[in-house]
Amino acid sequence: MLRFFDLDRSEAAKRSVVERIKDFDEIYEIFRPAKASEQAERCIQCGDPYCHNGCPLHNYIPQWLKAAAEKDLEMAFRLSNEASPFPEVMGRICPHDRLCEGSCTLNDGYGAITIGSVETFISEEGFKKGFRPKFSKKKSGKRVAVIGAGPAGLSVATFLLREGIDVEIFDKQNRPGGLLMYGIPGFKLNKKVVERRVAFLKEAGAVFRQNMEVGKDIAFEELVENFDAVFIGTGATKGRGAGINGEDARGCYLAMDFLVNIQKQIFGEEVDGAIDVKDKRVVVIGGGDTAMDCVRTSLRQNAKSVKCLYRRDAHNMPGSRKEYLNAKEEGIEFEFFASPKEILKNDSGEVIGVEMVKTRLSSADKSGRQKVEEISGSEFVVEADIVIFALGFDPVAYPFLAENGIETDKWGGIMVDENYETTKAGVYAGGDCYRGADLVVTAVRDGREAAKAIISRLIR
Ligand code: FAD
Repeated sequence: MLRFFDLDRSEAAKRSVVERIKDFDEIYEIFRPAKASEQAERCIQCGDPYCHNGCPLHNYIPQWLKAAAEKDLEMAFRLSNEASPFPEVMGRICPHDRLCEGSCTLNDGYGAITIGSVETFISEEGFKKGFRPKFSKKKSGKRVAVIGAGPAGLSVATFLLREGIDVEIFDKQNRPGGLLMYGIPGFKLNKKVVERRVAFLKEAGAVFRQNMEVGKDIAFEELVENFDAVFIGTGATKGRGAGINGEDARGCYLAMDFLVNIQKQIFGEEVDGAIDVKDKRVVVIGGGDTAMDCVRTSLRQNAKSVKCLYRRDAHNMPGSRKEYLNAKEEGIEFEFFASPKEILKNDSGEVIGVEMVKTRLSSADKSGRQKVEEISGSEFVVEADIVIFALGFDPVAYPFLAENGIETDKWGGIMVDENYETTKAGVYAGGDCYRGADLVVTAVRDGREAAKAIISRLIR
């Protein structure tokens, strides 16, 4: 350990831009064994490990780094699966720069340990060697219904199955995974990685009921009646538009509709009107991770040009810096300090451009973030055939919630107590449907903590 003196931080290699923009395969390569243990050896094994505290899951990071450095892959695999339901996913798509790596002591001057890449290596190498996640063989006789097979739902299912509690997961999509499957593009997360975890859960006894929308194809009340507890993990995918004239033009899409449509086409699934950006001028409005996923998806779908318009600057973008740099590297054009005023359309109702206005940053609001001010008289037009709004998401207020006395907050988020129990006894919730659009790792933490509460209620 302590090799940070003579060994620099080294990130996982990326495929060349020319090659990677031709497909939806992951852009990062997996560490080779020698590099993984070398990078893990840089860890200084802090007494009070900030990486562990910076991780919403409080993963045993120093411990599995030590095991990886000592080439004890089995131990590293076991430890990394302990607090996390799918470390190979988190290693790939967590914003490490803001969480574990951002908190690493070495981040201040020496370069943080490449925690994410080592985490991915441990899982992938472990799977190659035949290591598998462990589940209880003893059954408790209890059954829990999970609504939503996204990260929150898969997490609660994992931790319940580890204690011998059976789960039945109801999901309205064709495939399990939630946004891991239909939102986050394949160049960040290969879909086979998600399918592999789902297969482990099935082997452990989980029953997946796809194309089942609760509230439509099956009544929520039926689940309450037939199961010992219910967990709601329905996410927050109701997209926000810009609230400007012309948004109804043909060729305007909400980010989620766009990404799901393209992913379904990639899977060869049926879509209600295939979106085609080939040879079109695509404009994406927004500056977060979803906007980056939309621009990079459009590029891979052979758009003629792809432009990202954002009302602040690169420094103030809300998403991961790494993903912005990857998009820039791939040739995406960015226009900062620009806000949309109106969508322009032709007589047939098709989008032909966006009227924008220049902006500047002014005084800070209560949160300390600088406000955005429009500069009058600075309007300009950006020509476009396709406009995608990537401006955030809200939870869907399903009628079954209010009908069953499950309270929501003013943003539509399900309210829960410290045990993730909703205002209806025996019904739990977590992930984006409770906290609003956030991260995979927080959804997974909610699922894990809700599972602990359900376990205490049912079998302890
Ligand atoms: P979801 O993943 O949304 O899953 C909810 C599930 O519930 C879905 O499968 C849905 O079909 C199902 N469902 C909904 N309603 C019903 C119903 N009535 N009946 C049955 N099933 C229902 N986070 C990161 O950490 N890193 C990233 O790189 C990242 N990239 C992102 C990119 C995009 C484009 C988006 C939109 C989000 C991204 N996020 C990222 C955020 C992350 O994906 C979410 O925070 C996370 O998926 C939330 O998990 P969840 O289980 O709460 O909800």
